[in-house]
Amino acid sequence: MKTIDLRSDTVTHPTPAMWKAMALAEVGDDVLGDDPTVQRLEALAAERLGFEAGLFVASGTMGNLVALLTHCGRGDEVILGDKSHTIVYEQGGMAGMGGIMPHTLLNQPDGTLRLEEIEGAIRGDNIHFPRTRLICLENTHNNCHGVPLTAAYTAQVVALARKHGLGVHIDGARIFNAAAALEVDVRELTRGVDSVTFCLSKGLCAPVGSVLCGSEAFIAEARRNRKVLGGGMRQVGILAAAGIVALEEMTLRLDADHACAQCLAEGLAAIPGIEVAPSYTNMIYFGLADSVKMTAYEVSARLRERGVLVLPRDARNFRAVTHYWIDADAVDGALEAVRAVVCG
Ligand SMILES: *Cc1c(COP(=O)(O)O)cnc(C)c1O
Repeated sequence: MKTIDLRSDTVTHPTPAMWKAMALAEVGDDVLGDDPTVQRLEALAAERLGFEAGLFVASGTMGNLVALLTHCGRGDEVILGDKSHTIVYEQGGMAGMGGIMPHTLLNQPDGTLRLEEIEGAIRGDNIHFPRTRLICLENTHNNCHGVPLTAAYTAQVVALARKHGLGVHIDGARIFNAAAALEVDVRELTRGVDSVTFCLSKGLCAPVGSVLCGSEAFIAEARRNRKVLGGGMRQVGILAAAGIVALEEMTLRLDADHACAQCLAEGLAAIPGIEVAPSYTNMIYFGLADSVKMTAYEVSARLRERGVLVLPRDARNFRAVTHYWIDADAVDGALEAVRAVVCG
């Protein structure tokens, strides 16, 4: 039985082209600045996203933490969404490691923060207040059903930040999914922003890594922060080689994942007992109707017996994510399993 793994796009194994690139990678000691493959990946990523420089990091979490440590000092404040990955899933690293204070605003269902609420959250110059330094956005917004944030919205946030002398960071773990869904060049989504992190290891299929992009000066400082977090890696061109394939080839095919997500969402919606939220990119959020007496944990355990893996989010709700290793047959297989488990 072939497993149909829809828990996340992080489950993607490297593609054959990646295995080959890794085997043949030219490497050196990257902490000493000697790894040509890492340098190629960093330059390529910066160019693709419209920045001067890039920094290869171990994970998206490390990329975001390094960015925050580089933008902010102890006691400085960051404005970000209450459902953002950085607030919910990164252990409060900004506070724990950096003494940085989060100022959370409600994420709207479309993943945005209201501009007037951002403006209201920015502190004035007063000896009592922390200093507001940074606004963080997330694109696509994972906890808001994978919705993409538009270039127009990002531009408005950038304009607001400029007016108040603040920086803007985007957690762009899936920013290439956003670009594909909105049918824009990814640079449209990063224009005017100070830094962006994106993941090579999710829908782009690389085994490890993210890239943080910014100005030369910002990345020079970020490189110091990566080092103190233990993120200085040596012959890491082996991993960067897969990242180059991810960036050059895998960013071009994300539409296919979004099409599979639509098929899966439509198929699920047609199953009695299943309720599906709107799907925008490669994520499908769905739940059990009141008529279904099993919990989501029971349903997911029974799906597992049938070789289908989804992520239960609570007792009634699930997330499924499409990716390179999920094709139309896998979607059909998943739907058949859900039908069998839920409808008996
Ligand atoms: C996955 C993810 C991250 C962090 O990535 P890791 O590589 O798992 O640390 C950050 N932000 C968002 C929105 C993500 O989905």
